[in-house]
Amino acid sequence: MNTIERFNKNVMGTYGRFDLVLEHGEKCTAVSEDDKKYIDFGSGIGTNSLGFCDTEWVDAVCTQAKNIQHTSNYYYTKVQADFANKLCGLTGYSKMFFGNSGAEANECAIKLARKYSFDKYGADAERNIIITLQNSFHGRTMATLSATGQDVFHNYFFPFLPGFVNVEANNIEDLKNKLHEYEGKICAVMFEFIQGEGGVIPLEQSFVDAIFDECQKRDILTIGDEVQTGVGRTGKLLASEHYGKKPDITTLAKGLAGGVPIGVCLANERCCDVLTKGTHGSTFGGNPISCAGGNAVLNKVSAPGFLDEVLKKGDYIREKLSEIPEVQDVDGLGLMIGVRLKTKKAADMCKACLDNNLLVLTAKDKLRFLPPLTIRYDEIDKGMEILKNVLK
Ligand SMILES: *Cc1c(COP(=O)(O)O)cnc(C)c1O
Repeated sequence: MNTIERFNKNVMGTYGRFDLVLEHGEKCTAVSEDDKKYIDFGSGIGTNSLGFCDTEWVDAVCTQAKNIQHTSNYYYTKVQADFANKLCGLTGYSKMFFGNSGAEANECAIKLARKYSFDKYGADAERNIIITLQNSFHGRTMATLSATGQDVFHNYFFPFLPGFVNVEANNIEDLKNKLHEYEGKICAVMFEFIQGEGGVIPLEQSFVDAIFDECQKRDILTIGDEVQTGVGRTGKLLASEHYGKKPDITTLAKGLAGGVPIGVCLANERCCDVLTKGTHGSTFGGNPISCAGGNAVLNKVSAPGFLDEVLKKGDYIREKLSEIPEVQDVDGLGLMIGVRLKTKKAADMCKACLDNNLLVLTAKDKLRFLPPLTIRYDEIDKGMEILKNVLK
């Protein structure tokens, strides 16, 4: 049996995978078991933010693995303190919680928001509703699935968690109506600044302004899910910076540790002490190897000029895309790019790209690119040349 047959024999079929076995990688090139090379415009859905096996990242992770790989949360480690200091320093948040994934980061945000209202208004107030947006994506656990505003995900697993109300993205009237309808019962509004899985759709500034204004008036917490948009992906450390806003809570994961599992929930002064001893936890949360990877990522991303370069590369790709006749329009910010095609199906083109040695993603009916933030111009050129030929 080959690798794919052996894999499928014993792994649940929860994903639609391509028939490609990746064996190793370097920078923006992945190499398959049969020694074919692929330019990577997906970075493992935005996780390999520094590409494959970045030298400093590998050093940080390997050194940590040789020192101490895990301690549990009975104890402290320096690498965790370094990471937390660095991340809070860079983002301006007061405190963070360590988890292992985007869903876990969002679970923490949901629990935090509910306890904030519970502590302040009491159990009888039942101030526990969280407004989320239609077409959002917040994860695959039962709570984050309940938060996710896409009907396709709301099947099979009934009953879902109560206490989530959906508002249409960019519809201020709908937002105000729901806030009014559930007046006094809402503890938080949770949203992605750019809906990633939903099709790379940015929120409008006026809608974001309305969320913050309305929440401010009512002592409702704002939660920015930056699991996909965070850590430099959009050319700012946080996508919220593009909007000039700072949610009370921001969640990060995907690219934060360069391809090892991590998820964090950041909270500002207003709510950073809500989750007290015993109210939340995660065995692997704060894993030292992940933190070492995270430190390597934060060092690179916060280096002078790095984020400007991400913006420039994003502009460069957009310029190249505008020369392809099959491209209808392009959305997103920085190196988070959604491409709507005129006549061809995104899923078919994703496969065609792969057949021509380019790894890309889809989001709904669009092609999606989340290349490593460290991608070089010659690598972009190679990838765009393949794309151009595929879309001919
Ligand atoms: C990927 C993603 C998640 C879920 O992250 P996991 O690590 O898969 O749990 C949550 N929110 C957003 C915006 C995402 O893009």
